[in-house]
Amino acid sequence: MEKELEKLRETAKKEIAQIKEKKEDLELIRIKYLGRKGLVTKILRIMKQLSPQERKIIGKLANEIKEEIDLLLSLKQEELKRLINKNDLKDDLDITLPGKPLARGKLHPLTKILEEIKVIFEKLNFDIVEGPEVETEYYNFEALNTPPDHPARDMQATFYISDGIVLRTQTSPVQIRVMEKNRPPLRIIAPGRCYRSDAIDASHSPVFHQVEGLVVGKEITFRHLKSIMKIFFRQLFGEDIEIRLTPSFFPFTEPSAEVSVCCVLCKGKGCSVCQQTGWLELFGAGMVDPNVFKAVGYDPEEWTGFAFGGGIERLAMIKYGITDIRLFYENDLRFLKQF
Ligand SMILES: [Zn+2]
Repeated sequence: MEKELEKLRETAKKEIAQIKEKKEDLELIRIKYLGRKGLVTKILRIMKQLSPQERKIIGKLANEIKEEIDLLLSLKQEELKRLINKNDLKDDLDITLPGKPLARGKLHPLTKILEEIKVIFEKLNFDIVEGPEVETEYYNFEALNTPPDHPARDMQATFYISDGIVLRTQTSPVQIRVMEKNRPPLRIIAPGRCYRSDAIDASHSPVFHQVEGLVVGKEITFRHLKSIMKIFFRQLFGEDIEIRLTPSFFPFTEPSAEVSVCCVLCKGKGCSVCQQTGWLELFGAGMVDPNVFKAVGYDPEEWTGFAFGGGIERLAMIKYGITDIRLFYENDLRFLKQF
């Protein structure tokens, strides 16, 4: 009986191996051996007639064979499935069809211009630093020579988080933080988000971006400021751009200046963007006020420096010819895809 079983095992193995493609054949073999009237089943049925000793040996062997056939059948089934898939693919695949286009992402125009600004200043040996957007009144105003009763505080409509805590209205507090932690000489720019409770219109947004610059060293003069401004704006807008500094006022610089560039759009002839003046006011700048140095423990007799800063949105609007600041924040793909 053992021999008979071994023979069954061998023929079943051979038959399964011979199946080439038809799944139905697998089912026929399963029925032939393992079905209710199958060859292995039959042997298991007559076990009762065997002696207990024989029953043990034959039973074990028959079960073993049953499991083996089961396993071989399922393996074969997997194999056939893979084969069929492969054949299907071969028939259906038209390699001449054009592929589905992959949508390529683009940098936001503000990210793009900020990268450009960073590269220009990095070449001039400036470090790039960041500071907190939630600031204390001290850093946002006091340390920048703007005491509580100073009229400049009225000039800026500020978002207050709680008493003494504000959303920074400018990137200038970063200057103070850097000067407190480092000794001169310094050469930094600090780009980042700023907040003012302005009503939204084509040129105002309550959230906007600024870039701030600070240079502190020995015998730094207004001429250094002017040449850095010239290099920066020429790299950003083109080598033939003229710049102009006009007197202005900021609490933390003295003297202060407004930095303008000759209108990029009309080349100085006068247009609606420059309000017919031929000039675009882009940055505020000036020599760091001695009071600011005193607030951070620098000796104003020993050190001098200049600071400058302005809105990144405005630079991007001029560079890319964008007429409405709101377009930056609306996430309209038709707009964003153009950059
Ligand atoms: Zn113009």
